[in-house]
Amino acid sequence: MVCQLTATELADKLRKREVSVREALDECLARIRRVDPDYSAFLHVSEEAAIVEAASAQKLIDDGEGGPLTGVPLAVKDNMCTSGLPTTCSSKILEGFVPPYDATAIAQARSAGLVIVGKTNLDEFAMGTSTENSAFFPTRNPWNPDLSPGGSSGGSAVAVAAEMTQLSLGSDTGGSIRQPASLCGIVGFKPTYGRVSRYGLIAFGSSLDQIGPFARTVEDAALMSSVLSGHDPLDSTSQKDSQIDVTGLKKGSLKGLKVALPKEFHSDSIEPGVREALDFAIDALKKEGVEFTEVSLPSIKLGVTTYYIIAPAEASSNLARFDGVRYGPRVEAGTDHIGMVSATRGRLFGHEVKLRIMVGTYALSAGYYDAYYHRAQQVRRLMADEFERTFKDFDLVMGPTSPCVAFPLDSEDLDQMALKLMDYCTIPANMGGFPSISIPCGLSNGLPVGMLLNGPVNGDERLLQTAHAIERALPHGHKRPPMP
Ligand code: GLN
Repeated sequence: MVCQLTATELADKLRKREVSVREALDECLARIRRVDPDYSAFLHVSEEAAIVEAASAQKLIDDGEGGPLTGVPLAVKDNMCTSGLPTTCSSKILEGFVPPYDATAIAQARSAGLVIVGKTNLDEFAMGTSTENSAFFPTRNPWNPDLSPGGSSGGSAVAVAAEMTQLSLGSDTGGSIRQPASLCGIVGFKPTYGRVSRYGLIAFGSSLDQIGPFARTVEDAALMSSVLSGHDPLDSTSQKDSQIDVTGLKKGSLKGLKVALPKEFHSDSIEPGVREALDFAIDALKKEGVEFTEVSLPSIKLGVTTYYIIAPAEASSNLARFDGVRYGPRVEAGTDHIGMVSATRGRLFGHEVKLRIMVGTYALSAGYYDAYYHRAQQVRRLMADEFERTFKDFDLVMGPTSPCVAFPLDSEDLDQMALKLMDYCTIPANMGGFPSISIPCGLSNGLPVGMLLNGPVNGDERLLQTAHAIERALPHGHKRPPMP
């Protein structure tokens, strides 16, 4: 069965002509048709375009020009521009928008021969942690369809976890790749800021946003990252030497690896079952020669409050362009421009998006800029410095990815504050721009727990190498959800 293979295994079979790209695609589309009605990961399945792409990928393979992922199906979070395919950000304000160009990450995936099968659901404009803020429908967790898959890239996480695709793309502003990866029991990687182009990713918090992969193994995530990375003159924050080189991926060793465990990641706000799963994994790694040291990084405690000033501030500015003139539908109201813009934005943006625009505008306003935005930037600097200093003495900073396992959709026990606190462990990597990966490390009450590994800025290769070695040392980590 093609769908259960990893991307590496599938690509290998495609290269050896044991399966054709079209056969692999047909199985993937059949699986989507069969299981997606239960999970609602996809907003749009691009069957016709995928058939055309599959033929080009087959040609690459036949001509001996294929790369390591040629012919592998790929699902894409619906906040990345895909030429000819709808791109909605799960918002009514972009309903019907079909971009005339590809985001750079998409163009790179296409030229490496990956076959885009569709666009996946997200919290509107990537604002959320449960995928319930989608203007269209919530996505369900394959471990239990009554639970949330996490968010905001919930659709992409579920596409991979429910074996509809081997690989998918997400974006991570405060944890949106790593938290859903953790809640769905798969791998999610946020590369160093500037190593994957953000051109064509519909901006949320531009100084924090980063595109990255979801996969079922670290190796697959690493290969996908190498396809996505590279300098892009169209993104002014793109680094010069940004190619992620994964040739040494399997050379990582655990003996003598120095890992910092911030006590702030081990606090009471972490669910006991999550702590137990992590402690169990830590014990297994100690036996492999990993050295753990408890440290204190006090700025971690300020992360959520700081993030919820900076991200909305940037969002309020980025979302100003959705005005009923330049993109998407328009709500006519009276004859004047202001009336039309406010009716369009008032009617077509969802509640959470409007909330953030208001908070962000307030934080940036003349009288409050110093008290909020400027102050938040100072804390951000402190946090980045604190981690940078720690990476001088340690290879990794480790913690749980999410303070809890998957939680019920429509949960009345969870207030907005509880949802925001879910980003507690993932936010530092966005603040500091450093790479961060979530890998499965066991179950708590039958639900997946993710381990978060953070490495220094531009240490992406080393981080992936170490994550690969850790994954091998935790054979109990990877489990499949109980699905049809
Ligand atoms: N959950 C965070 C938020 O709601 C992070 C979202 C993200 O990374 N896109 O903003």
